[in-house]
Amino acid sequence: MPLWGWSFSRRKFLTESSLLSVFTGLAGLRLWGRPMSEEVQATKRANIYARLGVRTRINAKGVYTYLSGSLLPPEVAQAMEEASHHFVLIDELQHVVGEKIARLLEVEAACVTSGAAGAIMLGTAACVAGKDPQKIKRLPDLTGMKSEVIIQKSHRNGFDHAVRNIGVRLVEVETEEDLERATNEKTAMMYFLNDAQSQGRISLKRWVEVGKRRGIPTFNDAAADVPPVFRLSEYNKLGFDLVTFSGGKALRGPQCSGLLLGRKDLIEAALLNNNPNEDTIGRPMKVGKEEIVGLYVALERYLKVDHEVEWKNWEKQLETMEKTISSVPGVRTGRFVPEVANHVPHLYLQWDEKAMGLTREDFVKKLREGEPSIECLPDEYPQGLSVTPYMLQPGEEVIVASRLREILTEVSRVH
Ligand SMILES: *Cc1c(COP(=O)(O)O)cnc(C)c1O
Repeated sequence: MPLWGWSFSRRKFLTESSLLSVFTGLAGLRLWGRPMSEEVQATKRANIYARLGVRTRINAKGVYTYLSGSLLPPEVAQAMEEASHHFVLIDELQHVVGEKIARLLEVEAACVTSGAAGAIMLGTAACVAGKDPQKIKRLPDLTGMKSEVIIQKSHRNGFDHAVRNIGVRLVEVETEEDLERATNEKTAMMYFLNDAQSQGRISLKRWVEVGKRRGIPTFNDAAADVPPVFRLSEYNKLGFDLVTFSGGKALRGPQCSGLLLGRKDLIEAALLNNNPNEDTIGRPMKVGKEEIVGLYVALERYLKVDHEVEWKNWEKQLETMEKTISSVPGVRTGRFVPEVANHVPHLYLQWDEKAMGLTREDFVKKLREGEPSIECLPDEYPQGLSVTPYMLQPGEEVIVASRLREILTEVSRVH
């Protein structure tokens, strides 16, 4: 059987997929608060990754592309499987699904992209080339087009490469005066990194106001910024012309999917710069029918989830972990919730690296290389590390907690 076939055969899914443990977890929560049963562990060993010789990891860290994003809820996996059985016109599918998404989120227009990074690139292309067929063909050669995008210096980040892919130059500003001075007839777009709100001197609101006054489209990269769920509509309502969210993060859509939300003319332009159209800058960022359908169903699901109950369950998982760890001598624990991105409960642990002879790097390595392999967040607090139940499966909090305790107890015994 070809490799791609594994996830799209429902029977296979239910008998041998790695997602089985996820499904039982999500559906019944029967594992709640208990270590994983032998049965579930056996299923984990027998999954596709075991057959490929690839280790699976317990994700106590959150949504990260290198760690393969999030896990598909069963209804999303099933929708993708169903979508894989029929031919459709991608263009028609994009338009129909885009309209439905726009209605769900009460925004003007929407489309499904290959990810938030893909949405940044397409949004920029839409602002630069618009719907002009000659310009669309010519990108990233900007002859005859606007060639600058304004960004706050503190908002520079790895994903602004997606802006630069269009060929434009990033113009850095710090103050509002800088911003006023930087806007000119070459300015194609004003990019904002939502997560950097507190680092920049120009607020979301002012960014939008200046954009409107100067007639320059504004873009907000809010890729990882749900929950809370209302943020999905918030920034378009605030006046941003384009907003993106990753589909493979909190929404639990396909890992290779994203939302581009915004002004109708710009979304139409983005689609013209996108696959399936050839000779466009977006053609290499293909989104298939499975991703388009998958993200739509994931979004529908996400809007129905009881987020309060979900939050309480996260708190319960954290409590279990905190109880197990806090009694280890020399260890301090505490909780925090990041303000914007990954706005979910976290538990941090701190210990005296010198006294206990355990550096943060060693701790992370021990967790990663142990059995089972656990990924955590090393850099949120100085001299410590954090874990979050955000992407944990029910029952895994017990495994993570006992492993953390084991490592900490081991070193405190030696020292
Ligand atoms: C994750 C992330 C992206 C990229 O999202 P993908 O869906 O993986 O392409 C872009 N910007 C920010 C701020 C992110 O956190």
